[in-house]
Amino acid sequence: MSAPALADRHAGTLALDNIGLLVTCDQRHGEGGPLGIVREAALVIEDGRVAAIERAGRSGAERIIDVEGRCVIPGFVDSHTHLIYAGERACEWAARMAGEPYRAGGIRTTVAATAAAGERQLRELARARRAEGLRAGITHVEVKSGYALSVAGEARLCALAGELTDDVTFLGAHVVPDAYAERADEYVALVCGEMLAACRPHARWIDVFCERGAFDAEQSRAVLQAGRAAGLGLRVHANQLGPGPGVRLAVQMGAASADHCTFLTDADLEALGASQTVATFLPATDFATRQPYPDARRAIAAGVTVALATNTNPGTSATTSMSFCIALAVRELGMSVEQALHAATAGGARALRREDIGRLSPGARADVAVLDAPSPAHLAYRPGVPLIAATLVGGRLAHLDRALTQPEAWRAALASCDPGAREP
Ligand SMILES: [Zn+2]
Repeated sequence: MSAPALADRHAGTLALDNIGLLVTCDQRHGEGGPLGIVREAALVIEDGRVAAIERAGRSGAERIIDVEGRCVIPGFVDSHTHLIYAGERACEWAARMAGEPYRAGGIRTTVAATAAAGERQLRELARARRAEGLRAGITHVEVKSGYALSVAGEARLCALAGELTDDVTFLGAHVVPDAYAERADEYVALVCGEMLAACRPHARWIDVFCERGAFDAEQSRAVLQAGRAAGLGLRVHANQLGPGPGVRLAVQMGAASADHCTFLTDADLEALGASQTVATFLPATDFATRQPYPDARRAIAAGVTVALATNTNPGTSATTSMSFCIALAVRELGMSVEQALHAATAGGARALRREDIGRLSPGARADVAVLDAPSPAHLAYRPGVPLIAATLVGGRLAHLDRALTQPEAWRAALASCDPGAREP
């Protein structure tokens, strides 16, 4: 049976056809298992959403793009980034690799550079990083503030983040600024009061760096309580540099996610496994700080929901490559390819408490990464090789690799979009 005649095709629909392997991340589809794999498929898109999954070569969509047997996955959901800053820190990183330890105080270097930058420069830098992420298949980002640490500065960063995403996180409690060196509790009061009030209109989330050198458990709890009272969802930077109270505080407070989780005790795992709090691993940071890697396999065995994110930032993870994070997760965290891909898509969506992204099944936002590969294993099997052939956000083209055989056909079928623009 051949495709329907042109006259019978559904107006306004688009199909990515001839998909060799479609990863839906929806267990209701395909062969079973968390990745919900459908072979020889067509993905039908209408009004920026997934409308249907059909058999290859049989689609009734008005416009059809032949992906020539490639693997198609949900775009990566990067649930932890610090995209808005000025000043890179390559020298500091090189010094660390030469033997100096990482200290949370390095954040202050970026705070100074960010304060010196104009709004236009910050916007351009952030948009360039977002475009880099789109080329790497990241279709949704969470973006944190945290490199201003003043009321007006944090509000400016939250507003800029809001130009890139609807998942903006207020991170005034990133580190205690120098001006409050011996008065950390006063700074916490500022974060919970005036600063929160200024950032609240731009933000969906509040976050705190609960770690030695940053904020202790009591201060972190105060920040989270203030954020919750203001109607924000909760996230915690936890257990990055050593065992600590961050993970259990996140669980107690009902946070959506505890991030880093490099050091997890049995008690941490038990608490996470019995909660709705996602453990978000940031292995590019463990790589860049030459730390041990978390044992994700142990966390999964304990019933913990896991996510993978890039933690893009100038000090400890100057990468926008989720593929790199997947490769590390498979090689170093003990995850299977399937677990790592699920964590980088559906896991990220869970960490942001969203149902509309991280999957490719009817009703989801049409956020798609087309791999220049036949299976997702290649993301880890071919580390460092750019394998994202095309990225769609809300059904619109956000990135198209030059290597594709019919770029004109892709462009003709898909309305182009500004890669730096806010997501739909
Ligand atoms: Zn972070």
